[in-house]
Amino acid sequence: MDEKTILIVEDNPDNMYVLDHLLTHRGYRVQQAISGEEALSQVREYRPALVLMDMQMPGMDGYAVVREIRRHPEFALLPVIAVTASNMPGDREQTLIAGCTDYVAKPINPRELLRLVEHYLEGGGSGNDSDR
Ligand code: MN
Repeated sequence: MDEKTILIVEDNPDNMYVLDHLLTHRGYRVQQAISGEEALSQVREYRPALVLMDMQMPGMDGYAVVREIRRHPEFALLPVIAVTASNMPGDREQTLIAGCTDYVAKPINPRELLRLVEHYLEGGGSGNDSDR
């Protein structure tokens, strides 16, 4: 049983349900945030090992959240995986420029997501990886 905490940031209840189920079924401990503001306070409170970040949220979106997270040196290496419905050319780069560690597209491919999560939790660090 892996007891590392994963913070899921997602404003859509159906997507949250799917992600939460996928990760808890795999044995991860999960925290949920349904807005950017809540995400920031939970990062500080729970110090998750990894964050799954919905980039499209009303108000403070995922780009703003990850930029704020990266302003704090203590969270410089926190893996933040962008989850975005948008699949336009250049979108992946935009999430990385904003400070995300990696990127998955919606609709979620469960195997791809779990592989990424395991990779970054076991790797224990950040940084983009060509070996995914
Ligand atoms: Mn959303």
